[in-house]
Amino acid sequence: MSVTDRPAPDARIHDVVVIGSGPAGLTAALYTARAALEPLLIEGVVDGGPTGGQLTLTTDVENFPGFPEGIMGPELIMNMRAQAERFGTQFVTEDVTAVDVSGPLKTLTTASGLTISTRSLIIATGAKPRRLDVPGETELWGSGVSACATCDGFFFKDKHVVIVGGGDSAMEEAIFLTKFASKVSVIHRRGELRASKIMQDRAFKNDKIEFVWNAEVAEVHGADGAVSSLLLRDTVSGETRDFACEGLFLAIGHIPNTWLFDGVLDRDDEGYLLVEQPSTATNVPGVFACGDVMDQVYRQAITAAGTGCRAAIDAERFLAEHTDARPEDPR
Ligand code: NAP
Repeated sequence: MSVTDRPAPDARIHDVVVIGSGPAGLTAALYTARAALEPLLIEGVVDGGPTGGQLTLTTDVENFPGFPEGIMGPELIMNMRAQAERFGTQFVTEDVTAVDVSGPLKTLTTASGLTISTRSLIIATGAKPRRLDVPGETELWGSGVSACATCDGFFFKDKHVVIVGGGDSAMEEAIFLTKFASKVSVIHRRGELRASKIMQDRAFKNDKIEFVWNAEVAEVHGADGAVSSLLLRDTVSGETRDFACEGLFLAIGHIPNTWLFDGVLDRDDEGYLLVEQPSTATNVPGVFACGDVMDQVYRQAITAAGTGCRAAIDAERFLAEHTDARPEDPR
């Protein structure tokens, strides 16, 4: 049956529903579609994030294998979506507002009031980088303000950039940025780093990195669509000063999009969904998690796609093993 001939999403029981439309969700959809499971993918905006995930906020993606000349983030996502659709993925574009995974049939409610039932659920709702929430940050996001040095560092050749944060990510990204930037200023709100000793030592040894202690960014200023300076506030004295720079990178942690599963699915201390490694199974049978919502370490498009593939295979095996117990569609 072609996708267009299929009943409305709330008029049948699905074998697989995927929530999330980034590389993890689209890969899970592609694999389950090719396994003839006719997946439904819900690509609603998740907690203020974009449909298509964080890749749609980036420009050139030069580290996704298979594209020697690079590819624009939104185009890569559109290609993945088209590929999933080609093999029979059905799409619903709206938010999921509630989830009930207490029984063998999982039920999702959407913003428009659809009730969608499924025998297995793949969660690929992603994580969003924590932001500073200061004036100028949103306006200059993607035009000098970034939360991904790996993605955007290349565009700051011979420029002076700032990285905010004192954790391992900030050190790692500061060191990475020195490959391109003429100078990297690490701005940290305290007088000591949170990062591991080995990462601190590497950063301290790097001549291109300077540290600005006890300082927080109060405003981001731009000119001609690029960052030109920051207003820094001393966290001890409260004094403010202008700080000239040409780029601002944030490494102040990520927030996984898991609020739909509060109190239902097990999470780690940082809020990421826990899975039974090496599988993608959560603590609820038939519910799988992939991509940034369960990965606080790698957070790359290619690693998200990889876990999406694993989740699809896990869901397929789960359905095969539970064939006898599969709730029948009463409609
Ligand atoms: P993190 O360890 O939570 O560090 C976040 C940093 O951002 C902290 O220094 C924090 O300051 C600062 N921060 C948070 N909110 C802020 C705000 N609103 N304004 C200014 N600064 C703010 O996060 P992470 O560095 O992303 O690391 C996450 C986990 O991944 C950690 O367990 C880390 O060890 C691991 N990781 C490991 C590696 C590695 O081993 N190579 C690389 C990356 C990440 P405070 O210190 O004052 O709280």
